Amino acid sequence: MAIRARGTGFLGLKVKIWGHLYTQVIRADKCSFCGACIGVCPVAAIGIKDEKPSIVGRCIGCGYCYAQCPHIPFDEHVVEEKLFKDTSSKFGLLGYVRAVYAAKATDEEIVRVAQDGGVVTALLNYGLDSGLIECAVTSGLNEDDPLKPKPMLAFNKQDLLNSAGSKYAASPNLIALTSAVNDFQKESIGFVGVGCHITALRKMQYHEYGALKYGLRVKFAIGLFCSQTFYHSSLKNFLLENGINLSRINKTEIVSGRFKVKSGEETLLDVPLKKIKNFGRKSCSFCDDFTARLADISVGNMDSPEGWCTVIVRTAIGEMLFKRALEKGYITANKLDPKSLKLTLKMSKIKKRMVTEVEAQS
Ligand SMILES: Cc1cc2nc3c(=O)[nH]c(=O)nc-3n(C[C@H](O)[C@H](O)[C@H](O)COP(=O)(O)OP(=O)(O)OC[C@H]3O[C@@H](n4cnc5c(N)ncnc54)[C@H](O)[C@@H]3O)c2cc1C
Repeated sequence: MAIRARGTGFLGLKVKIWGHLYTQVIRADKCSFCGACIGVCPVAAIGIKDEKPSIVGRCIGCGYCYAQCPHIPFDEHVVEEKLFKDTSSKFGLLGYVRAVYAAKATDEEIVRVAQDGGVVTALLNYGLDSGLIECAVTSGLNEDDPLKPKPMLAFNKQDLLNSAGSKYAASPNLIALTSAVNDFQKESIGFVGVGCHITALRKMQYHEYGALKYGLRVKFAIGLFCSQTFYHSSLKNFLLENGINLSRINKTEIVSGRFKVKSGEETLLDVPLKKIKNFGRKSCSFCDDFTARLADISVGNMDSPEGWCTVIVRTAIGEMLFKRALEKGYITANKLDPKSLKLTLKMSKIKKRMVTEVEAQS
């Protein structure tokens, strides 16, 4: 057996390893807890402590964790050239756009449990029904600890219904992707995540040291608009201090600058967003990717009526998925002019400005 020096990759390349990742990202508070490093570690040496990756075994110095991390700068243009080769229109901070829609799911079961118009769940459901994918990576809730996101695999509509709705604490969804491959031998997978998840996924697919074993099995990636994620433990303590019975919660919302906690039609808590700002992950102040620019399709609620989603179709595969789901009646949609996404653009600019300020301070 060939003996490799630590930090020398499989091709003899000098690679950066866990120690670099720890110093540059985790200790620097730039980790968004996407789960990529944890999932790809070939010897399961990375675990979780305090909602962050933590070393729990012996690092073999392969450098896989470092290479997939979305917070290690890389040349986004390399990915863009491959991903958007058939998409000519770039709308500034919104990224590449083939078409924009206000859309919603047609299935009442989906609409009832979804965060907004249920487009994400409906697209995944179409993907499963049509055989385009065998399973989807989503984020469910932990049975023992409501509100705590749990990366999960959805194999059927019921699994999708169980995982619908936005979780505002970070969810390490890339762990579920690696499980789909390693534990379930799935070849075609749909993926949902916020911008940092999607960037990690694109690194797996296109980085020179990407984890192709996982990346190449993802047939499409749906990105969620995201201004910020939060620490689960801090949010939970805040709700407990406010006398909220956690087991009653079935929906949380961040809309128009307010954080709302609901149980069916009943609103259990409705506070200005600034009350929970301090529980946000610091990593989000380093992120300017509000609309998940590297996704095949990005979905949010801004700039669409209540109960509808704003959908940005970006790639050829995204267009095929959206159009087929529309033709087969899984969703209904009205075309929008990309220039009409005024709030989305404003939020993208705010994120961009915030990153510039943070970088100037450091
Ligand atoms: C942390 C966060 C912040 C957001 N901020 C904004 C915002 O500022 N403005 C805006 O317009 N939209 C925002 N969104 C997106 C919005 O909340 C909806 O997810 C989006 O409109 C899609 O709605 P839907 O009805 O199609 O989703 P659904 O059909 O309910 O599907 C949502 C899917 O997302 C998955 N999911 C839920 N939470 C997470 C998570 N934390 N990580 C990865 N996957 C997850 C679910 O498992 C499900 O598959 C945010 C979402 C999240 C998770």
